[in-house]
Amino acid sequence: MRYDIGIVGTGPAGISAAITAKIRNKNIILFGNKDLSEKMVKAHSIKNYTGLPNVTGNELANDMKKHLESLDIEITDKKVNAVYSMGKYFALQVGKEMIECSSLILATGVIQSKTLKNEDEFVGKGVSYCATCDAHFCKGKDVG
Ligand SMILES: Cc1cc2nc3c(=O)[nH]c(=O)nc-3n(C[C@H](O)[C@H](O)[C@H](O)COP(=O)(O)OP(=O)(O)OC[C@H]3O[C@@H](n4cnc5c(N)ncnc54)[C@H](O)[C@@H]3O)c2cc1C
Repeated sequence: MRYDIGIVGTGPAGISAAITAKIRNKNIILFGNKDLSEKMVKAHSIKNYTGLPNVTGNELANDMKKHLESLDIEITDKKVNAVYSMGKYFALQVGKEMIECSSLILATGVIQSKTLKNEDEFVGKGVSYCATCDAHFCKGKDVG
C-alpha cells in the first residue's frame, strides 16, 4: 500500500500537517512518538500560540492528542531511519520495513548540541534556545 503523504515528526509542525492532510481526505501515515514532542512538553509557559494566550507545553500537547484522536489519526511510534527518493514516490526505511508514500513532509525539528555543563538539567529553567519565545521571562535580568 502506498500512502498519499508520509509525515515524520509529532511536534506542532507534524501534527498541524497531519490534521490538515486528514481533513482533506488524504491517506496519511504519521511517525513520531506518543508523547508528541519532548521540547513542547518541557515548555512551562507558552505565550505565543495563536488563540491560547497562556498554556503550558503539557496542556498544549494533551489538546493536540485529543485533536488527533477526534480525527482518528494514529501515531506510528517508530523511528524513520532513512528516506529514499524513488522518482514518483518516497520509500521510508522503518526498522526492517519499507513504507511508501507519494509525498513526504519532514517535521523532525532540530536538536541543539549541548555544550555547557549541566545544560540539560536547566532547559526550561533558565536555559533557552529561543529568544522570541523566552526573552520576556528574563526581562530586567542579566542574561548570557
Ligand atoms: C523549554 C522550552 C520552551 C519553549 N517555549 C516555547 C515558546 O514559549 N514558544 C515557542 O514558540 N516555542 C517554544 N519552544 C520551542 C518549541 O518547542 C519548538 O520550536 C517546537 O517544538 C518545534 O516544533 P517542531 O514540530 O518543528 O519539532 P519538535 O517539537 O522538535 O518535534 C519533532 C518531532 O520529530 C520526531 N522525530 C525526529 N526525527 C524523527 C525520526 N527520524 N523518525 C520519527 N520521528 C522523528 C521527534 O521525536 C519529535 O516528536 C520551547 C522549547 C523548549 C525546549
